[in-house]
Amino acid sequence: MNLLPFGKLPAYKARTFVPQTIDFGDWPQIAPLFGQLEIRAAQCKSAADLERWLLDWSELSAALDEEAARRYIAMTCHTDNAEAEKAYLHFVENVEPKLKPRQFELETIYVAHPQRAELLMIRRGEFHEPPIENNNGARRARPSEARYAVFDRDVKNHVELFRTENVALETGDAKLCQQYQKLTGSLTVNFRGVEKTLVQMGRFLEEPDRALRQEAWELVAKRRLQEVDNFDEIFDRLIELREQTARNAGFKNYRDYAFRRLGRFDYTPEDCTRFHDAVAREVMPAVRELHTARRRQLGLDKLHPGHLRPWDLAVDPQNRPPLKPFGQVGEMVSRTQKIFDRLDGELAGGFRQMQDLRLLDLDNRKGKAPGGYQQNLAEARVPFIFMNAVGQQRDVETILHEAGHAFHALAARDENLHAYRNNPPIEFCEVASMSMELLGNEFIEEFYSAADANRARRVHLEGVIGVFPWIATVDAFQHWIYTHPGHSRAERAAAWLELMDRFGGDVDWSGYEAARANLWHRQLHIFTHPFYYIEYGIAQLGALQVWANSKRDQAKTLNDYKKSLALGGSRPLPELFQAAGCKFQFDAATIKPLIELARSELAKL
Ligand SMILES: [Zn+2]
Repeated sequence: MNLLPFGKLPAYKARTFVPQTIDFGDWPQIAPLFGQLEIRAAQCKSAADLERWLLDWSELSAALDEEAARRYIAMTCHTDNAEAEKAYLHFVENVEPKLKPRQFELETIYVAHPQRAELLMIRRGEFHEPPIENNNGARRARPSEARYAVFDRDVKNHVELFRTENVALETGDAKLCQQYQKLTGSLTVNFRGVEKTLVQMGRFLEEPDRALRQEAWELVAKRRLQEVDNFDEIFDRLIELREQTARNAGFKNYRDYAFRRLGRFDYTPEDCTRFHDAVAREVMPAVRELHTARRRQLGLDKLHPGHLRPWDLAVDPQNRPPLKPFGQVGEMVSRTQKIFDRLDGELAGGFRQMQDLRLLDLDNRKGKAPGGYQQNLAEARVPFIFMNAVGQQRDVETILHEAGHAFHALAARDENLHAYRNNPPIEFCEVASMSMELLGNEFIEEFYSAADANRARRVHLEGVIGVFPWIATVDAFQHWIYTHPGHSRAERAAAWLELMDRFGGDVDWSGYEAARANLWHRQLHIFTHPFYYIEYGIAQLGALQVWANSKRDQAKTLNDYKKSLALGGSRPLPELFQAAGCKFQFDAATIKPLIELARSELAKL
């Protein structure tokens, strides 16, 4: 039984190292391939040999990656199918744990390889740049033009950070993260006689009835407050483990370690501080403006006290029923196709190809995992999009977003190094997807009347502006946490409240001070993905620049967009941004005109 939505997808490039028929669920068949690579490394006597070796390793990684993706896709499309679950778990439990040390072994061999320096002399040929000679004429490749420079930097970093004694600490970290997830997922409330999860309660914050919203919000806040000590306890233990992990690796604090661990070579903690300051200076006035408008539209200015309260932020300020962009999912696809047809012929062709190959599973149905994702099939070099569309505006945003990721994968198809093709830096992946939300929204009339199209654009742009302060808050908080070792819970709460004062806007929390002080407990990333959040802010700045450029010259912007996507992960972040026509900067000078643009566009809607 084929549990995949798509049919047979041939490898984009025929295998030359991995056998045509191999069972990737059977470790004894995979292990010899790693063995061969380990032996062959010693026989590489030239840069060309080492490059061949690298590409064979890359072929193996892609084949394994696609196998994992196929099992994941089958499982999420059929959560009620025991066979799919078994196949997925088998790979996760029996193959992946054995895979990781062998991959790391190859990385270690690579870093120590005598031909490595020679490999770094290989220049990029694929994009036909003229070679650059040094002042002294020496044939020394500069990092920006060496074909394997980014790969080399990342692998070296990974190997250098590894400490045997950190393996157990990381397992402990993962267990605590799982405890956090379990605790969060277990919380329910009894709302008007019915037990509901906190996720289910979110819906009530969109209800026009203000008293009902308040009741729902208070119930959730109260439930969370009962767990304050548990959340803090988990977090205290996480900090302890993380500080020890950083010390073991020779870092003075976990922040500096995390920056290296996340491969942040192109920006520093000081750049992040500049981002926080820029948000405070340039974005907060726009947020306050939006809060004031919302307060008026909700009629709160006629009340005493007429402040915006935490339960007033998600409801439509004019009490209108939700937008209805489409009925059936087929309609969503054909209308999205029309948006891309109007935007760019090549991108439109990519989306059409995905339909032809059945690389979309978008409708919400029983037996499907929740949420949405885009997954690359690394050997066929095509993307797959998974969603649970039910006919909301959110679905339109999601399909445009995920299509942006899919265009990234399609654009980078000709890149032969798996690491470059499949793993561009997340800060840039999200430029690909967030740009597509903004560019696609220009043609959102395909889904709506003129008035509803403007309403959809308004919701989107308000979201874009509104997310910056939250990103700054979450990021600045973590900088504080990991540079203040030994802090008490009270000091931590005080640091958080200071950030809420700075970035919270004009929302009245009086009577709910404890909920405000512990609001960070609901931000999963702080617990499970430390420091991973500012990426979305950096990417949004890139996307806004792409959008601003498109208003001046749409054809050139789309060309740059496609060219930058085709680079995959082969360049450092500043070069990827530059190729897309953007500056890799997150200071006030960069943010200011972008927020002005968003504001002036909002004024037109
Ligand atoms: Zn994304």
